[in-house]
Amino acid sequence: MVYDDGMKKLVIANWKSHKDSRTIAEWVPAFTAKLGKTLVPSKVEVSIAPSSPFIPLVSEMLSHGVSVTAQDVSQFPQGKYTGATAATQLASLGVAYAIVGHSERRRYFHETHQEVANKAEQCIEAGITPIVCVDDEYVAAQASALPTELAQKCVVAYEALSAIGTGNNVDASQVSETTAQIKELFGKVPVLYGGSVTAGNVAEYADISDGWLVGTASLSLDDFLPLLTTIVNF
Ligand code: PGA
Repeated sequence: MVYDDGMKKLVIANWKSHKDSRTIAEWVPAFTAKLGKTLVPSKVEVSIAPSSPFIPLVSEMLSHGVSVTAQDVSQFPQGKYTGATAATQLASLGVAYAIVGHSERRRYFHETHQEVANKAEQCIEAGITPIVCVDDEYVAAQASALPTELAQKCVVAYEALSAIGTGNNVDASQVSETTAQIKELFGKVPVLYGGSVTAGNVAEYADISDGWLVGTASLSLDDFLPLLTTIVNF
């Protein structure tokens, strides 16, 4: 499933490097068991982003049209690139989306705007929708690293550095302003917001964001299911 409907919200659960085979084997069956009641497919699309080695495991256990997202992808095609996972390899596992240029990748792995653009291009060629993460500071620089026809095929996530993993979500007026700027720079793309999103604050963005990139609040079903229920009830 790939996001294609402006009325439907896209929720990406970004597990980062948290979960392993044991905790995944607990989380996913408990999640799918609750989905019949929680998930209204016309209102929300959910995609789970585990660490790469667990993509097949998660994929096999998921149901109800919930897809899998990769947390990163190689900027190169398949070939002599030890340690890299190519977009076409992810596509062969049924991956729907790939997060590219998350601020943690930029900060700890020194990814540049051009590398992020290359990754987005690899994804699009492989049939995966890239979710390009940007902060206010470099939204324009990132957009200009992407050729227009590629930029228009991306989903963009506004991820304010001050809000990621801090509990300090960005106020709605700022999200609204940056979302409008992103739509101007990239074209009419879906724009997600990410940064300390919870069931308690997601309603603030109901009329602004096309979906959310959720880190901390996706780790426990006690947080994640109420978040989805809130979105479905907007
Ligand atoms: P957070 O993470 O929800 O824990 O702030 C969001 C993200 O990094 O995508």
